Amino acid sequence: MLTLVSTNPLKYEPFARDLERFRISLVAPMRDVPELQSLTFSEALAHKAQAMAQLFGLPVLVDDAGLILDAYHPFPGPLTSVILGSLGYPGLQRLLKGVSNRATMECHIGWWSGETLRSWTGKVAGRLDVSRQPSNPRMLLTDLFVPDQPCLPGMFQHRANALAELESAVFELHLEVGGELAEEDFKRRPQAVHQCPFCIELEGGGQSIFADVIQDRLASRIVYEDQDFVLMPPLGQFMEGGLLLLTRQHIPSFANLPPVLFPRLEALLTVIRRELTARYGIPPLVFEHGPAPQRSKGLCCVDHAHLNIFPASVAIHPHLTQRMHFSMASASDLSKLRRAEFGYLFVQENDGTRRAYDGQFVPTQLVRRIIASQLGSPERWHWQDYPGCDELVATYQALKGQIRL
Ligand SMILES: [Zn+2]
Repeated sequence: MLTLVSTNPLKYEPFARDLERFRISLVAPMRDVPELQSLTFSEALAHKAQAMAQLFGLPVLVDDAGLILDAYHPFPGPLTSVILGSLGYPGLQRLLKGVSNRATMECHIGWWSGETLRSWTGKVAGRLDVSRQPSNPRMLLTDLFVPDQPCLPGMFQHRANALAELESAVFELHLEVGGELAEEDFKRRPQAVHQCPFCIELEGGGQSIFADVIQDRLASRIVYEDQDFVLMPPLGQFMEGGLLLLTRQHIPSFANLPPVLFPRLEALLTVIRRELTARYGIPPLVFEHGPAPQRSKGLCCVDHAHLNIFPASVAIHPHLTQRMHFSMASASDLSKLRRAEFGYLFVQENDGTRRAYDGQFVPTQLVRRIIASQLGSPERWHWQDYPGCDELVATYQALKGQIRL
């Protein structure tokens, strides 16, 4: 969990669901910390973020909000409540006499990560209507501020906008503070490795599920292999051209791939993409469900790192926008996800865009289900219901020996 420190947690009540989605818990500071009296939000915020990081012993989110009057920019800014409290309604009327009444409500959320301030800002433009007498001197802004666009009541829109800004960064903040997970964290029982169906199949030491399902039709389904990676069509092949890219070593996910192997993984993905695009006319989707440690057995089929590859034209992102996510530049960004204690979903879209999503409570085979459903065969998502042996054999015959690094 991340922590958002706010002296007035009530202000976040309308955003409880967003905070839950971002895995942010809201707390009030356990003691008062003197605030820097500054007219700029960046200075006040940097001071507060540093002080709170020290108080809590780790980086935390902090906030500050206030009003900026166009006629006196950037006044009163972080000092809004102090200034308006002492001016009162008559003072504010005098202050705005003969000058513009345009104003902006701002909310700033900040994070001190050791040396620098990161911040996210939400603004709402409007004006102060000092002709209306406020119902209560303490409700000054709520009564007088008139936003240009209709928005959330109770002065919440600038906060909503700041949280929307924060959304694009929040997954990475989790990775910044999360501890690195060791492979040991993923092991439930010492014998787990020996039960892995991929290891049984790759090592050839026993009767594999693949051999049971395919019988005498194929001795092996491997279309490409080297010392670190193995490529083969999956069971439950609901369309020709689908592939699994496995690590030869039994590791829980591609986040745990030794960093030295990422350039070769990237090269292999490029070759596979070129070959599948040439053969099936569609640049493939690539995805992986990286498990959370200590996850109970049965949510995902196997804990042996495997990327799913399908030459299907389906936009996955619109189905996942409610999950925290971040954009990835290269495959090596997968190693950042070692710190994703809630697991992750990695998806590369048809156009090559790559994103990682919050992986908690992802239903079994979610992305396969989305693809199968979009392709008009929703009943085919589970391999036990639809083993897809014909498609598997066709894929093997089409691609064996065609992938070369
Ligand atoms: Zn394995």
